[in-house]
Amino acid sequence: MLNDIPWRESINPNIANIEIVRYGDTDGYGGIFNISLKTGRLISAIALPHHYPSRTGPTWAYLTNNDGLTLIDAGSQGAQQALEEALIILGQDINAIDRLILTHGHQDHDGNGYEFIINSHSELWAHEMYFDYLDEDFFDYKLDPSSSLHRIVGKYRQDMLDWQKHPSNALAHEHWKKHHDRYKHGHSRIMTGDIVCKKLNDGDVFGDFTFIYTPGHSVDQVCIYTDGVLFTGDHVLPQISPHPTFRQTLPKRLSKKYSKNQFLGREHFGLERYIRSLAKILLLNPDTSVLPAHRLYNHNRLHIRNVNRCKEIVRHHMRRLEKIVEALEGGPITVEDIARKIFISRKLLGGGIYAAVNEVVSHLELLIDSGDIRVSMKGQVALTGSRNFHAYINSIID
Ligand SMILES: [Zn+2]
Repeated sequence: MLNDIPWRESINPNIANIEIVRYGDTDGYGGIFNISLKTGRLISAIALPHHYPSRTGPTWAYLTNNDGLTLIDAGSQGAQQALEEALIILGQDINAIDRLILTHGHQDHDGNGYEFIINSHSELWAHEMYFDYLDEDFFDYKLDPSSSLHRIVGKYRQDMLDWQKHPSNALAHEHWKKHHDRYKHGHSRIMTGDIVCKKLNDGDVFGDFTFIYTPGHSVDQVCIYTDGVLFTGDHVLPQISPHPTFRQTLPKRLSKKYSKNQFLGREHFGLERYIRSLAKILLLNPDTSVLPAHRLYNHNRLHIRNVNRCKEIVRHHMRRLEKIVEALEGGPITVEDIARKIFISRKLLGGGIYAAVNEVVSHLELLIDSGDIRVSMKGQVALTGSRNFHAYINSIID
């Protein structure tokens, strides 16, 4: 039966109707929806599967017309077949699609990008940074060797790479490597210049689309505004809070182009940058609906929030900072100790500890800036006695 999915019209006044084109499973895998806006714009939302188990659920790609048919995000490596099936169900010829716009260069969004471009003969649009980072390896983060926090991140990164190569993980590693090679091959083909690419920048307008640069989760993240809705990629998600980056340095060849201070990378990385990018979205009309790249549909419900969701995400980080400060009240401890105190042990298994350490470090960087902690050369984290971080964050979002 159509039109029977619960969604909150009260907080989405720009949406006229949502129709189920194909039912997916309870977490949305296989689902296709047609979202009609009051302006008459039709947006098809297509769930694309991953080649690995993921708690984020499928990647939601969106198809709409904006001076030509436009697909937003293409899913991860191997998603092409599911995407083509969905296009047939929607009655759309893949060759009629003029362009793919990537919200950001994480493999669950651009992993299928090259294959899609080749099969559709369409153009590839993404933020300028996306193209600048194409020949960087996923794990090739630029750490600041003078930062004890970054040395800790480097150690856990190495541990994770060693863990992946352990014989007990051979099958999973082989699977991961095969897909990663396919991913990097696509990137190298894009770099050859055979594909028509368009580099986007903050504030660019094309047809009815306005592009908003929102780094923090990813260095190249853009949101796309049109007709009272915002395609957010991973910047704003319902139900889950996207991982913020820690404050990496820019690759040397980019530091001159983008940043005067390559060892801080404040303009592009870190929790503070992420919160500033949330604040940027809060400047939009509060009625703007969020069309996210994950969790659009989850637990049998559609989750279309408006941009006020950004405030909840800020509060989530505020609570995490409170927990970290609480964990430090007994005296100086290490980053790993903090991770063990604030995350449940299940989250720290396997590669989970690396993700947890990254998450803790991005929060500690903000607490250093607010003056509330200090970190010794050996990586011991201690309170300074001040509690400025609430005011520090409020000054960003007000
Ligand atoms: Zn992402």
